[in-house]
Amino acid sequence: MTIDKRLLRLQDVDLEIHRLRHRRDILESGEELRAARERSGTVEALLGELQMERDEVASQQKRMEHDDDALGQKIEAEQKRMFGGTIVNTRELNAIESEIRNLKDRVSRLEDDLLVLMERREELDTGITSAEAELVIARADLARLQASTTTEITEIDTDLTTKLAARGPWVEQIDEELLELYDEVRTSPKQHGVGAAGLDEGGACLGCHEKLSPLELSQLKKAGTETTRCPYCRRILVQ
Ligand SMILES: [Zn+2]
Repeated sequence: MTIDKRLLRLQDVDLEIHRLRHRRDILESGEELRAARERSGTVEALLGELQMERDEVASQQKRMEHDDDALGQKIEAEQKRMFGGTIVNTRELNAIESEIRNLKDRVSRLEDDLLVLMERREELDTGITSAEAELVIARADLARLQASTTTEITEIDTDLTTKLAARGPWVEQIDEELLELYDEVRTSPKQHGVGAAGLDEGGACLGCHEKLSPLELSQLKKAGTETTRCPYCRRILVQ
């Protein structure tokens, strides 16, 4: 195996380390946890609003039912008076009759309103049931995420230890100057942790996927043991 090929093996290990560290950063920053917490909070707030409105509607309904009862009793009393036989005066009887009609109109309007209110209450009850179910799921997701985040960080740390140890033997086999250049390239911005790349069969750099011209390829061949770099992304090219 040439030194350059060893550099590619080191690159594989380093990319894995790069990926693990990136994942660890995301977990540590708690972005996913924050989103899950927010989701749970939103559902909780919605549920609170629905419950509050349902309670208001329920007490309004109770008041109206009470009024309905009172009106019913009043009608009954007036009817008793009308048919009781104690009142014979026609004008007085007419007045009672008109009062009963009035009361019945009020009952009819009240019962219409009551019906609308009961429909709203039914809607709210349905909304509350589904919000409660959603909240159970959101809270379970949050709890699972909290637990799994801790587990995943521990696993990543174990993996990182292994990968960092695996780096050692490759590093020892690579020329110090080449290693320095490789580290410099892979840690520079926009290189995404890639310092060395191979060439594919068509002569394209596997780091940036730019195809090298025949002239560039022939210059590369002539370079022999000298370190060569991709003319496009400046990564070390391994032939
Ligand atoms: Zn390139």
